[in-house]
Amino acid sequence: MPGRTDPLVVASAEGVRLTLDDGRELVDGMSSWWAAVHGYRHPALDGALRTAADEYSHVMFGGLTHDPAVQLATRLVEITPEPLRHVFLADSGSVSVEVAVKMCLQYQRARGRAGRTRMMTWRGGYHGDTFAAMSVCDPDGGMHSLWKGFLPEQVFADVPPADAPPAEYDAAYDEHLAGLAAEHADELAGIIVEPVVQGAGGMRFQNPRHLATLREIADRHDLVLVFDEIATGFGRTGELFAADHAGVAPDVLCVGKALTGGYLTLAAALCTSAVADAVSDERGGGGLMHGPTFMGNPLASRVALASIDELLRRDWRGEVAAIGDALTTGLGPARTVPGVRDVRVLGAIGVVQLDHQVDVPAAQAAAESHGVWLRPFRDLVYTMPPFVTPPDDVDRIARAVVAAAATG
Ligand SMILES: *Cc1c(COP(=O)(O)O)cnc(C)c1O
Repeated sequence: MPGRTDPLVVASAEGVRLTLDDGRELVDGMSSWWAAVHGYRHPALDGALRTAADEYSHVMFGGLTHDPAVQLATRLVEITPEPLRHVFLADSGSVSVEVAVKMCLQYQRARGRAGRTRMMTWRGGYHGDTFAAMSVCDPDGGMHSLWKGFLPEQVFADVPPADAPPAEYDAAYDEHLAGLAAEHADELAGIIVEPVVQGAGGMRFQNPRHLATLREIADRHDLVLVFDEIATGFGRTGELFAADHAGVAPDVLCVGKALTGGYLTLAAALCTSAVADAVSDERGGGGLMHGPTFMGNPLASRVALASIDELLRRDWRGEVAAIGDALTTGLGPARTVPGVRDVRVLGAIGVVQLDHQVDVPAAQAAAESHGVWLRPFRDLVYTMPPFVTPPDDVDRIARAVVAAAATG
């Protein structure tokens, strides 16, 4: 498109390093957008992909099934909160959000409440780039004004309060959520949020107790509670799923991004038996109304299984905690950089928020001079390194974030 700056050309990628076509090596501070938790070219994942390619290429997933998808679905049910027992394999995170929204609508239809067609969420979220997903993204960050007249208009609560000391738990916010849901209960099908961490909508952390409040509200009004863990799933926040911080189980859970360790595009929407029964009920539509061509891709499913096995085999909790500690120490100096408003770390996520927009080319140049790849946006310089990043490289990433934040 006109007016874009030229991207860097990556010639190869291995471990936590991207090698550019000019020979430079950059440590990846972004895990290719939350996905490459084991780094690049991991032997176990490479091996799984090779083996799968000897067995399959893509096979349609309507009327046919196969061992990779069955095993993956089984594993996902095993490792996610107990009431989630049914799995829809989607081909991207956004599509899994579309499917989650359809589950909400079909659930209400099966209950004889076809008029309940809106979703409630809080501001500051990000759920993907397809239209139903965009409709629940932050209205400003997601540029809803651009799509006015086309985009469904959802019910938005205020941005959840920041969960950082010395802030006290904000019970008034719970009342705000409850009041909004009560006011719109007759038109709401479900609630969708990113638990604990809002990612691309602003890298904000919220108190997990608000999730318990959402659970109560959903139960009170018979709304389907959807947690979008596409960014937070698979250990990133220090728990396997962010919902685990609150001990709250949703009715529908979306996962993606790190699901395949960043190898291939795959996502999933899991749901409870109550939701699955309603969706399958004649009145609910007689089945889930979605069937993408590449659903349940066997190669992606095999790699996802290998990625989950690799994660659970290693001390991922220790790795994430060590990265978090190193980022807490390493990002500390950013606090005294002029123009820095906040520095926060949760799990293996480090965020420096400025009081102004980042000068992205200058910030990226500063990071590159430290040998690190970052992709700041808006007022945020942030990192979520691969879990396998060695301590020296985590320190290097932290220095690059501080340098990038200091470019003004
Ligand atoms: C990235 C992301 C999505 C969209 O996933 P895609 O695979 O890019 O379509 C949805 N929700 C959250 C929380 C995300 O971080």
